[in-house]
Amino acid sequence: MTSFASQVFLRVDKFCRPLPMVLNTFLVFSITAEVSYLVLVEAPLEADQKKTVWSACWKAFHLLVQYFMLGNICWNALLFLRTSPSIKGVFLGGEGMGQGWRYCYTCETHTPPRCSHCYDCKVCVLRRDHHCVFFGQCVGFRNYRYFLSCLLFMWSGLLYATLMNAEVFIVILKEGVTMHSVLLLIIPWIMLVSGQVTAHAFAFAFIADTCIVGFLLVSAFFFFHLILMLRGQTTREWYSTRRPYSLGLRGNLRHALGLRWYLCWLCPLIPSPLPGDGINFQVTGLLEPTRMLKEKIAELDYSLNQQKDLTTKMRHWLDVADDDVALLRSENSTLKEKVKALEKVISEAQKVEAEPCKGLLADDLGVKTFRENKIQELLKNLQQERDRDHIIFSKLRAEFQTLEYFRLTNKELNEKLEGRLDEASL
Ligand SMILES: [Zn+2]
Ligand SMILES: [Zn+2]
Repeated sequence: MTSFASQVFLRVDKFCRPLPMVLNTFLVFSITAEVSYLVLVEAPLEADQKKTVWSACWKAFHLLVQYFMLGNICWNALLFLRTSPSIKGVFLGGEGMGQGWRYCYTCETHTPPRCSHCYDCKVCVLRRDHHCVFFGQCVGFRNYRYFLSCLLFMWSGLLYATLMNAEVFIVILKEGVTMHSVLLLIIPWIMLVSGQVTAHAFAFAFIADTCIVGFLLVSAFFFFHLILMLRGQTTREWYSTRRPYSLGLRGNLRHALGLRWYLCWLCPLIPSPLPGDGINFQVTGLLEPTRMLKEKIAELDYSLNQQKDLTTKMRHWLDVADDDVALLRSENSTLKEKVKALEKVISEAQKVEAEPCKGLLADDLGVKTFRENKIQELLKNLQQERDRDHIIFSKLRAEFQTLEYFRLTNKELNEKLEGRLDEASL
């Protein structure tokens, strides 16, 4: 349900956003058309009433003035919309970050002085003045000139239209200040719906009303911004009554409208480069208002007094701590002596326990060494015996070979003897 409601709200919001601009455009063109009609036809409310006769040149001049103002309004509005005042695509640097710099958690960047975040445009705007609902865009450092020029021509256009419509009022009021004429001027819509006036009379009365109301509103707005510009302030700075960036009348005009401030308001196409970069500003006054500074000084005084109280308390605690430390030191030396005595006792006890063990170990070691020597001796004897056996075995072998030789010799001799014996018997 909530998501459905938020979706509906988002759609309504999206639909309503361009409405002020559409309405504004409609009114500007309607008023221009009506004034042009007045100039060309000099239309009175009633056909039989006397008309003022204007020459063709005078009419042409009036039309020229009207369309010059209309052209300026439209062109300035277009350039205002096309010139983004945001920090997008701007190298903000950062090495010069100092007083006035802030951090925007939405854009996740450090922002220069006089820059602030717009939650409608969803971006930080350099030297942000305010978010203009009629154009649906913020007024900032780069598009301030177009905004002010547009406002100037709207104001002059409405003044002109009001003067031109004065005749309509005169015609209406000529009939006498009756309830009908007053109601026609105050509530022309109701008079039209209730059938009290014709559509023709309603249109003129409605536009005349719009001119007066619009003129009063735009006058207030225009002069407010004119004063701000001359004081070198933005709307946000006006609220805090600060003027730390004011550079004098001429300097403020140059910084708001550009180097050709004396000419650029005549036409938006006249180039007028801005002297600053919208990031660094010359500070000529206190950045913080005096009241705030006084409050800060009072806060500092209060914290200083608190600090003094704390220091006194700390001193008292330090005195107490000193006594405790002295007590602990004496306890410590006693404990050290006790530890030494204990260590002595333990070392003596270890000595007593270790000595018999040493004798036993020596005995064991002696037996072990003796046995090992014995084994070594036996091994040596065995080796000697083996060597001896080896020699005897070699000798025996030699004797055996000699014996074999003799055996063969004896055999030969026996054979020879037997041969001789045979010969003898024969
Ligand atoms: Zn931001
Ligand atoms: Zn904005």
